[in-house]
Amino acid sequence: RAGYVAIVGRPNVGKSTLMNHMLGQKLSITSRKPQTTRHRIHGILSNEEMQAVFVDTPGIHSNEVRLINERMNKAAFSALVDVDLVLFVVDGEQWREDDLLTLEKIGETDTPVVLVINKADTIKDKGSILPLIETYHENFEFADIVPVSALKNQNLERLQQVIRSHL
Ligand code: GDP
Ligand code: MG
Repeated sequence: RAGYVAIVGRPNVGKSTLMNHMLGQKLSITSRKPQTTRHRIHGILSNEEMQAVFVDTPGIHSNEVRLINERMNKAAFSALVDVDLVLFVVDGEQWREDDLLTLEKIGETDTPVVLVINKADTIKDKGSILPLIETYHENFEFADIVPVSALKNQNLERLQQVIRSHL
């Protein structure tokens, strides 16, 4: 049986890039514009070691005033139901309050959550992420915490190991 892995996080943190690079092919749509991924896109990673079905979600927006955002939020959260693992992706250089809001929502499910700190290649002061990790960890118990660079393919093998261990 293949495991289901949902990729969630606010727009532009690199969710589509992460999925594409783990699959090694261009499946999802990446763009600077936050709302490109309107629908869930599934990708399948299949090798001798694991079979994982990735669900790339639209970004979760804290501004629920705009209807489009609300609809996208619903699509994103519905993706969390019936998955085996959630990859909660943040931008290592730009953690924001939106991220914590998203996390609160994720916390309403029982699914294990891996904190993926993406764009590690852009983090100038590596030490600065330690207090952030602490703050997050105070609010939430992560199954694992993995720093990666989706764009530069850094530490993606480690992330795949972690994913495999939860499927
Ligand atoms: P999504 O909205 O979360 O799906 O984000 P995308 O995958 O569309 O990426 C948003 C932008 O961030 C794009 O310009 C990507 O090239 C860039 N990006 C994604 N991952 C990384 C990374 O690891 N490092 C850097 N420097 N940029 C990244
Ligand atoms: Mg996307």
